[in-house]
Amino acid sequence: MKVIVTGGAGFLGSHLCDLLLTKGYDVICIDNLATGDIRNIEHIKSEKFTYIKHDVTKPIYFGDKIDYVFHLASPASPIDYLELPIQTLKVGALGTYNMLGLAKEQKARFLLASTSEAYGDPLVNPQPESYWGNVNPIGPRGVYDEAKRYAEAITMAYHRYHNVDTRIARIFNTYGPRMRAGDGRVVPNFINQALKGEDITVYGDGSQTRSFCYVSDLIDGLHRLIRSDFVEPVNIGNPDEMNVLEFAEMVIKITGSNSRLVFRDLPVDDPKVRRPDISRAKEVLGWEPAVKLCKGLEQTIEYFSDN
Ligand code: NAD
Ligand code: UDP
Repeated sequence: MKVIVTGGAGFLGSHLCDLLLTKGYDVICIDNLATGDIRNIEHIKSEKFTYIKHDVTKPIYFGDKIDYVFHLASPASPIDYLELPIQTLKVGALGTYNMLGLAKEQKARFLLASTSEAYGDPLVNPQPESYWGNVNPIGPRGVYDEAKRYAEAITMAYHRYHNVDTRIARIFNTYGPRMRAGDGRVVPNFINQALKGEDITVYGDGSQTRSFCYVSDLIDGLHRLIRSDFVEPVNIGNPDEMNVLEFAEMVIKITGSNSRLVFRDLPVDDPKVRRPDISRAKEVLGWEPAVKLCKGLEQTIEYFSDN
């Protein structure tokens, strides 16, 4: 089977390419390297792998039959999408439109990498897929949240009106090797600060919560989802919730660092809680995360120590 992975040179996309190749698929990775890194795919020597440098906000056509399109292209870290607000909106809107057009033409199955940010700053915790969210459309994070909400809407429209076989994964905070050290997300920030003995920057008072999923679990969830027949959105994430202060202390403990905590302003519209309700993923995919946070963090710390 021939598969396209947009955003395949990014953190999640490169791990997805790895998994698909081990399962025997032909993989075409499309990425413009806006926030990705060619080094994430340099280790891939397989003849079944092709990399195309391309911006998916522009159309692209294939002669050969494509079976699946995994659409992951989009800045994902808050500092990335705050620096690239228009590109983020364009890739969510035009990029998703182009990739749905490709899937329609090819009669390929399409999977959208959506996000827990579709729930915004949620007023219910944990978040089930039935929750419509609490998003500020005109705040700084709106460029990402609304782009992904639009992407979900156009995905369902292509499903309903063009019979495209679609899937929507609402991905919650995922971490692991190949995150960019400078991408600003809490996991690479805290680990790199701890490894260098620098101050650990807790935003706000650190009482906001997140639930961290290890990359191998997440990628397994995406692969199960595209092979399922379930069209409605599915949360993929780890329901083990903790606050940012507890997470900082855990990183300090595992790294054995003597870094101190310092407190910085909370970014605008930073969600106060986030935890996936994964009942649906359990039921329709038989999926739940297997990697404990301490284990996943050890692997991630090892990666950042070596890079
Ligand atoms: P990433 O920034 O590492 O990867 C995104 C990739 O998309 C990069 O390689 C980038 O160069 C590429 N890209 C961006 N715009 C593009 C364009 N116009 N054309 C072609 N390529 C483009 O981020 P990630 O963490 O791997 O996230 C991957 C996807 O998963 C994103 O869609 C993101 O919204 C979603 N997601 C990730 C998380 C997470 O915790 N990592 C959580 C929720 C959702
Ligand atoms: N955060 C923090 N210090 C940092 C980076 C992030 O306290 O150096 C907080 C951030 O305010 C948020 C949480 O950690 O509450 C997760 O942030 P991240 O950027 O990883 O992703 P988000 O879940 O906000 O999309």
